[in-house]
Amino acid sequence: MAKAKTKSFQTETKQLLQLMIHSLYSNKEIFLRELVSNSSDALDKLRFNAIEDSKLLDGDTELNINISLNAKNNTVTISDNGIGMSEEEIIENIGTIAKSGTAEFLSEMTGDKKKDSNLIGQFGVGFYSVFMVAEKVSVHSRAANLKPEDAVMWESTGEDTYQLSNIPKENRGTTITIYLNDDNKEFSELIRVKFLLQKYSQYINFPLILNPEEGEPETINDSEAIWLKSKRSVKSEEYKEFYKFISYDTNDPLTWMHNKVEGKQEYSSLLFIPEKSPFDLWNRDTPRGIKLFIQRVFIMDDAAHFLPLYLRFVKGVVDSSDLPLNVSREILQDHPLVDSIKKGLSKRVLDTLKKMQKDKPEEYKKFWKEFGLVIKEGPAEDYENSESIAELFLFSSTASAENSPNTTLDQYIERMNSDSDKIYFSIADTFEAAANSPHIENLKANGTEVLLLTDRIDEWLMSTLMHFKGKELVNVAKEELEEGAKKPRVTKEKQEIINKMKNSLEHRVTDVIASSRLVDSAACLVLSKNEPGAQLKRILEASGQSFEDSKPVFEVNLKHKLIKKLGAMSGKEFNNFAEFLFDYAVIAEGGSPKDPSKYLRQLDKYLG
Ligand code: ADP
Ligand code: MG
Repeated sequence: MAKAKTKSFQTETKQLLQLMIHSLYSNKEIFLRELVSNSSDALDKLRFNAIEDSKLLDGDTELNINISLNAKNNTVTISDNGIGMSEEEIIENIGTIAKSGTAEFLSEMTGDKKKDSNLIGQFGVGFYSVFMVAEKVSVHSRAANLKPEDAVMWESTGEDTYQLSNIPKENRGTTITIYLNDDNKEFSELIRVKFLLQKYSQYINFPLILNPEEGEPETINDSEAIWLKSKRSVKSEEYKEFYKFISYDTNDPLTWMHNKVEGKQEYSSLLFIPEKSPFDLWNRDTPRGIKLFIQRVFIMDDAAHFLPLYLRFVKGVVDSSDLPLNVSREILQDHPLVDSIKKGLSKRVLDTLKKMQKDKPEEYKKFWKEFGLVIKEGPAEDYENSESIAELFLFSSTASAENSPNTTLDQYIERMNSDSDKIYFSIADTFEAAANSPHIENLKANGTEVLLLTDRIDEWLMSTLMHFKGKELVNVAKEELEEGAKKPRVTKEKQEIINKMKNSLEHRVTDVIASSRLVDSAACLVLSKNEPGAQLKRILEASGQSFEDSKPVFEVNLKHKLIKKLGAMSGKEFNNFAEFLFDYAVIAEGGSPKDPSKYLRQLDKYLG
């Protein structure tokens, strides 16, 4: 035997080990789930690589995971005949943390032990959880492409260092021996371990064999893939457990879809809609959560190929026998079957959501609260389905006083005047501002419904959509609100006031006109049809566009006492008051006057 080398853990790894040992210990049983899942990954990798290089299997074709217990010595051994690791790989994989995940992992810690321990698996730091229960761990591994004498033994007590030595290993794969510490002897007891394997590792795709100290080995799981079973033979409980297994979510899923497509193209899919959004919902770079299998061989976890981004919260499995086993990301990219699977799955998810909206509105509202913002990305990404996506939207509306999105576009259409062809919406930063906007005073007075939008992307969304089922989506902050609306009669005298205002506000507005939309307010600002509103402007400005030159139209309510008051003024007094009215309209929009203190001085004066 060669002499052991001692190496030091990377600083980040040391921190992580400290955290595992001292903070997360209350849910320490999950170490078993993590190690079994690593073995399963190693078997998946072997099976995948053996497609190209069948020599790797080397006669040892029964892929499985063995767990052996020894209560006398307080040890648990987990052994697989998977891909294994070379010395370099072992140093890289369990001496350092290759992914920059640690800092993120630490920042996600919530203090809720159950949640936190689920994060362990998601961030790829699962192996280290073994130190929650072990005083020493040894990992004996032989890479599938190396000889017995090239095997490596890694040992550590989870403090600052680990030892490496060269110890031959007859079979390919990895054997991990856990020397349990005094507090955790329970994990070498048969009943306890069996219970945990059933709880966490039921859905592993390889036989999981428990070897007691005495007596016969027992296979714990049913390694037949759940998604290939017939729907009738799978119980709800099993679907829920399987969801938790693949997602690391502790909650039940909201719903699931299990389908088999047959005919020219064949594939099975099992998809889940979670109840709560995952921590990485807003990471659009590498959405994960749809696992691709080809003939039951795990190929990759790459959601982007099988669902559009606006459905990235969906988790599940796709299994196709029609894709080539040696598929790569590049092949996936332009494979016609992938495209058709993506279309099929998108439609399935949209239909399921639509049905939930109809049959279980309360449940759907919960869904919308979690994922509505993501769904709103849909029409821009998936033009073909934009109308079915829009059917899923929920908005607040003047039809109900409640500040909670509960109106669909279809419901709006059902309620509207049959001769109307417009769906009106008011956008503001808050519900109150949208509901009380001067722009909609006349619509409200006439009993016309207005949708009240407050999400940051709503204006962008509506301007992407433009129409819904033949009805125009109309932003109330824009000019020409109601075609053919009665124009207010403007006397010569009033027209003169308007002209004077135009002169006085020339630098701030493109026009001053008599308003037909105002009832209670004195004035408001409107935008020309092609001009982006405040919300969209902010988005566009963030992407580098500039709108300094854009000026609104100033609409005034000639019946209002402030305008009458203005009519009685002249000269400097008139100009000041016109400016004051302009700022008043800016505030009503949720904006702020250029010079707030001047505005307040004026207000004091006019009130006095
Ligand atoms: P993750 O599984 O998310 O990558 P882990 O901390 O659980 O993170 O494991 C780290 C790495 O160690 C794995 O990615 C894998 O490369 C390696 N590894 C762990 N266990 C095994 C095993 N039984 N066989 C082969 N490689 C393993
Ligand atoms: Mg792991």
